[in-house]
Amino acid sequence: MEEGPLSKSRFEALTYKYPRFYPQKVKDFTLDDNLPLAGLTIRNEYRSKAAKFGLGTLDVLPLELLQESLSHLDVSTLTKFRHINRRAADVVESIPEFKAIVMHAPNALLGILSVETGHLISCKALYEQLCTAECEHCGSFAGYLYVLTCSRVCFHCFTAKERYLPLRYCDARRKFGIDRKILKTLPSMRSIPGKYSREQLNRPKRLVLVDSGSAYRAGVALHGSPGAMRRYASHVYAQELQEHNIKAFHASANGTYLPRHLYPHDAVEGNPLRFMGIIRMPWLNRATREPEYGAYCIGCISCHDNCLLNQFDIQTLSHHANPVMSLRRIYQRLHRRLYTEASFSEHLRQYGDIRDRKHIGT
Ligand SMILES: [Zn+2]
Ligand SMILES: [Zn+2]
Repeated sequence: MEEGPLSKSRFEALTYKYPRFYPQKVKDFTLDDNLPLAGLTIRNEYRSKAAKFGLGTLDVLPLELLQESLSHLDVSTLTKFRHINRRAADVVESIPEFKAIVMHAPNALLGILSVETGHLISCKALYEQLCTAECEHCGSFAGYLYVLTCSRVCFHCFTAKERYLPLRYCDARRKFGIDRKILKTLPSMRSIPGKYSREQLNRPKRLVLVDSGSAYRAGVALHGSPGAMRRYASHVYAQELQEHNIKAFHASANGTYLPRHLYPHDAVEGNPLRFMGIIRMPWLNRATREPEYGAYCIGCISCHDNCLLNQFDIQTLSHHANPVMSLRRIYQRLHRRLYTEASFSEHLRQYGDIRDRKHIGT
């Protein structure tokens, strides 16, 4: 295995910039792929003209202090403030954090404003996530933002973990035993109609979706403990299911069909709801001031394809830390993991160098 730091050219030779199996190159059919104005920068319509009016009493503050104060505002208020007059637009666009967001992650800002979570996220918090490289759940390099809690997440986590599945009010109510009054106090979003997930499932209506982590905590606080919450929720669910089954029985007698369950099936990676609050976002490296998008490992993609083609399901990789996990599951997790030059060196140390597009054991 090659020793020493990985060169840029070797990193590029051993990685793909995009998931190779996507004919559309980059599309994951997340929120940013459904924004009507995706890819546009936030325009300053006043740019060419000098400001005629000031900001009143705010103008007594030094510019740095004004910028610092405004950067703590939520992005919804900040963008409204920007439209007061030319001077306000000039000041907002001179805020270093706002400038960096508009330059490197305009779709994150557009997406947040479109799904109406702008009042939940400050300009400062969004900038911090832009400058954070790691997934908040698993710590690997992550190329996405979950807009309900302004968290950096990786593909594997947002397509698999419960906390990144935003829920419809009716499902959150059943699952956590909380009423609409409580749900309305929790972080929620209004989805954008469009196609979501790799299956490109069409969802033409706007849905109100609540953050499941917040709903879980609200349920535990209301019922006193996770166990009490689950008992209450399963009792209510059993009653509702009984009523539903009676309705389904009568409906089938009349020739119509009602599903025999109340919870919608979570098809994890194929669940369109998981993609509605997710935006692709680069990592802004504070040291170089350059955005990094990460790249996919050529070895993991080939090994993943091999597993699928040959139906491998070997129980262990001798050099892997988790002997319980099957080879197929390892590469299912790894083939969509993004790496920077630094994290790729560590990946090669853990899974072995790459020869002929395949990892060889350490
Ligand atoms: Zn993760
Ligand atoms: Zn790999």
